[in-house]
Amino acid sequence: MAKITVIGSSSMDLVVTAAKRPEAGETILGEDFKSVPGGKGANQAVAAGRLGADVYMVGCVGDDPYGKAIVSNLQANGVHTDYVKPVPDTASGTAHIILAEGDNSIIVVQGANKLVTPDLITDALPIIRESAMVLIQQEIPEDSVEHVSKLCKEYGIPLLLNPAPARKVRESVLSNASYLTPNETEARLIFGETSIKQALKANPNKLFVTEGKNGVRYHDGEIENVIPSFPVEALDTTGAGDTFNAAFAVALSEGKSLPESIRFANKAASISVTKFGAQGGMPSRDEVERGLL
Ligand code: ADP
Repeated sequence: MAKITVIGSSSMDLVVTAAKRPEAGETILGEDFKSVPGGKGANQAVAAGRLGADVYMVGCVGDDPYGKAIVSNLQANGVHTDYVKPVPDTASGTAHIILAEGDNSIIVVQGANKLVTPDLITDALPIIRESAMVLIQQEIPEDSVEHVSKLCKEYGIPLLLNPAPARKVRESVLSNASYLTPNETEARLIFGETSIKQALKANPNKLFVTEGKNGVRYHDGEIENVIPSFPVEALDTTGAGDTFNAAFAVALSEGKSLPESIRFANKAASISVTKFGAQGGMPSRDEVERGLL
């Protein structure tokens, strides 16, 4: 089976629900607390694992209980964790989320994700070289993203860069990547408000702009296409992009055509938004295939 390597972040999301958020210096009682595994890298690895891929995660966790929980969760979803390094005297990545008054406030502490360095990535070269696809996002240092792009170029490994969260992407990285999958906000930041059409045309069969419930836009070398999404009753769109990217990588690594791979990924992502939580709705292979019949 084709191997997929996901290089990226992992975290534990600590979610408090409260009637209001505390003022500076104030202590209040909350209503509910949940901890859920997250981080774009881990989310995408889990999504690929559920789809039955032979998936390896490359990343770092702290030597704390969250780190152990993050690794167990990856393993429970079929992800190989040989290249997830527990780092001594370091905290795992965490997101501290307050849900109050219909809105969320979030503090992200990168912790061990800052230590996904170029050297750590070079240590994973044996698995990178065996991969049919490498999948990466932007919750690790910029130099590390660039290093991955160089290694993939050098060894001829297809690289799918999901440039999320939104930040500028170095020219060399844009050029080394085989596939780019920004959402509309990320595409505007990377290519400029007015230049997305030109960027699509200049990057045929490489740049795929995800447009939420509208689907995915790309240029096939002759014309611009939109492959529509599947209409669903969306409950929670957190993690839609993560599911889309993982499923797209899985389909491409299996040799499916571009339009077929987008349809597969749209179907997987549309299922994911019908359930709560980033990982909560990520579908199994069977669910996606049944949905495509
Ligand atoms: P992100 O989650 O990164 O912001 P998008 O919102 O563009 O990315 O969503 C990624 C993909 O998830 C879309 O291309 C589509 O396939 C699917 N998706 C997102 N929202 C919906 C929705 N409301 N209904 C159906 N599919 C959706």
